[in-house]
Amino acid sequence: MLEKKLENIIKKNRHLIKEGHVADYIPALSKVDPNYIGISISDIDGNIYKAGDYNTKFTIQSISKIIGLMLALKDNGEDYYFSKVGCEPTDEPFNTLYKMDLKNQKPANPMINSGAIITTSLIKGNKEEKFNRIIEFIRLIAENPGITYNEEVYLSEKYTGDKNRAIAYLMKSKGLLEGEVEDILDTYFKQCSIEVTAVDLAKIGLFIARRCPLDLEGRIENERMAAIVTAIMTTCGMYDFSGQYAATVGIPSKSGVGGGILATIPNKLGIGVFSPALDKFGNSIAGYGIMKDLSRELNLNIF
Ligand code: GLU
Repeated sequence: MLEKKLENIIKKNRHLIKEGHVADYIPALSKVDPNYIGISISDIDGNIYKAGDYNTKFTIQSISKIIGLMLALKDNGEDYYFSKVGCEPTDEPFNTLYKMDLKNQKPANPMINSGAIITTSLIKGNKEEKFNRIIEFIRLIAENPGITYNEEVYLSEKYTGDKNRAIAYLMKSKGLLEGEVEDILDTYFKQCSIEVTAVDLAKIGLFIARRCPLDLEGRIENERMAAIVTAIMTTCGMYDFSGQYAATVGIPSKSGVGGGILATIPNKLGIGVFSPALDKFGNSIAGYGIMKDLSRELNLNIF
């Protein structure tokens, strides 16, 4: 019944793909077939519903910022973490460095690249340890020990990621970022190249929806961490489209330029959507259409 509905929602939104474009500023991403489209929903009892290309792997990209945020909050506690990264939405693009340069201001929030790079720097461990902790955490909460990263996408971004390099060195020059810049960037590029499916994203969304029910050591309670992550997804998760997305979809979500959207509804559902053609903000164009329909048809708007 629900799967039939998901199939219909896919059918209805597939035409949007031709109005979008796969990301090409990371050269390896330009090779991805734009025609994929898939959904998975995981309910509070752990039942999984899926349709379309739910089993196709794609790189997690910015959705890894959620994972980084959880680990950095665990390692540092809320007060210290937010002394380094802000908690305000921004109407600037995800890879901006404008305000930081102008006003020596800490990054607006953990979902733009500057904030995410600082977040990665705040995860404890050397570069190998940081990456291992990130990927192990994803494997754990997605309940998928087979998750790996895409070497080609990682190297492609590492060799062409000059904008992120500029952001990181600018932050270092202003005393906003501590540590070895190239090591931090290396971990950041690698975490973005971790490969997941829509089902993996739905399970991560469910983990947050269930208020992170695992015995995780750290300086913040799981419940509190889930509340912060969900709030930041709502206000900052969909790039500089987050306000309009909240008004039209009303579900805390985070997207990535790999075409994924991870959504979470507290105490209810996790949702994963994948379709790699993007709109001008960097959000999956068919993914947005799917989320609007899901919200309406399943009555999921939390507002
Ligand atoms: N690795 C990408 C970057 O830093 C992630 C961007 C995204 O998904 O928004 O440019």
